[in-house]
Amino acid sequence: MEPCSLGNIEGWSGGSRKRGDAGLVLSRVHTDSRTLRPGDCFWALSGANFDGNDFVEEAFRRGAKAAVVSRSMEHLSLPAGAGLVEVADTLAALQRFARQYRRTLPAKIVAVSGSSGKTTTKELILHVLRRRFSALGNAGNRNNQIGLPLALLDFSPKIDFGVLEMGTNHPGEIARLAAIAAPDIGVLTNIGQAHVGFFGSEEAIAEEKGALLAALPPEGGAVLSDEDGWIRRISGRSRAPVLWVGSGPEAAWRARQIEMKEEGVHFLLQGDSGELPVQLRTASRAVITDALLAAGVGKLAGLSAEEIVRALEEAVYPAHRMEVHRFSEGWVIDDSYNANPDSALAALRALAEFPKGDRRGAVLGSMGELGSQSPALHERLGRSAGALPLAFLIVVGPEAVWLARGASEGGLPAEKIHPCANAEEAIRELRALRQAGDVILVKGSRFLGLERLVHALLSAD
Ligand code: ATP
Ligand code: MG
Repeated sequence: MEPCSLGNIEGWSGGSRKRGDAGLVLSRVHTDSRTLRPGDCFWALSGANFDGNDFVEEAFRRGAKAAVVSRSMEHLSLPAGAGLVEVADTLAALQRFARQYRRTLPAKIVAVSGSSGKTTTKELILHVLRRRFSALGNAGNRNNQIGLPLALLDFSPKIDFGVLEMGTNHPGEIARLAAIAAPDIGVLTNIGQAHVGFFGSEEAIAEEKGALLAALPPEGGAVLSDEDGWIRRISGRSRAPVLWVGSGPEAAWRARQIEMKEEGVHFLLQGDSGELPVQLRTASRAVITDALLAAGVGKLAGLSAEEIVRALEEAVYPAHRMEVHRFSEGWVIDDSYNANPDSALAALRALAEFPKGDRRGAVLGSMGELGSQSPALHERLGRSAGALPLAFLIVVGPEAVWLARGASEGGLPAEKIHPCANAEEAIRELRALRQAGDVILVKGSRFLGLERLVHALLSAD
């Protein structure tokens, strides 16, 4: 962020200045006392296991020039000239502050939400926009009520575009994030069952994602996939014109002649002015939707089809998402980053479609945050896996029993199904089962740490 004054911090956060001059200049807002730099303003956030207010003295010792706190600090002896702003709730104050900071940025903000593929789509949009503009995104996965305001504060007034992933696992969160970020362009990837445990139904999830469309200004734009029924239904909530991508007659970009190859997914990108071949470095056809959405944003930004295609082809994907690696004589499809019912089905499809290898094997882990629907959704995924001609299926974690039951219903013989309690057991099982010429998919929720299986396979070489 640009340096800002203590007066701005007070005004924008809605707090009251207890110490320090309004004109005091702070170089950054920072929330972690361990990585604070001299000249920063320490913002004392609190979490389940810590209270930032306890670290205010340490922050000043490390050179903070000011702090935003939610507890009286009258007893503290602060360095001369230090600033102190008191607020009722430091997170709400950070969100208010980021919202005001955003209003000073000339950049156009692109917001990306959806059940799966947000980070992938955000990265692809950044690659596309950077062909011609300066564009920044939220690093990694800073997509929630804390991460998104902090990501916005990283944006300098010099950038042309900010691309922000917005995550939600509770109703109302997207509306709050959109109110902070004031997006000009909204992108929705798809609407599925991620976090259904917290929402109750897919309809409630659609309602939640629709809040992003409702927040767009009439002069902005929405970029949406026509292949998702829920998205088609909620598209009317956008006052901004919709640019469709996908396969329908209205789509500005369509993918034709899709082919799965060892090096990636091939297709023809069809727009108003013809077709261009594209190769994406991913094993999943689901990523084509993400690429079409990025092409849609590129079109709104005025880029040519050639510029867009070059960017999509050069794009590097975030780690552990449908990455293909060679191990001895085989292939591992590493999708160990996280899992929900839709991305897991997409990953199984990619395993089935992988054009090389003698045998197919899969490691499927538990999926989190599915509430009362969890057993049924695991069983359904198990059935899809069981219907494939797998040489082995390793199921891992607390829901392994449901995955295994589904796999047997799907037709996989019991001796090919290997339930494991955790990643360590799964590594031992995998070492015993794997053979030269195997293609092995590794997919599961983040808490299981299944990326360790991928490392184990690759380091066995
Ligand atoms: P999170 O909610 O954890 O932040 P995300 O929405 O940012 O996830 P990514 O990290 O991009 O999603 O990808 C997560 C998984 O979804 C990966 O397995 C990826 O291959 C898969 N995926 C990517 N795009 C799509 C898509 N359009 N449809 C279904 N699955 C997808
Ligand atoms: Mg993400």
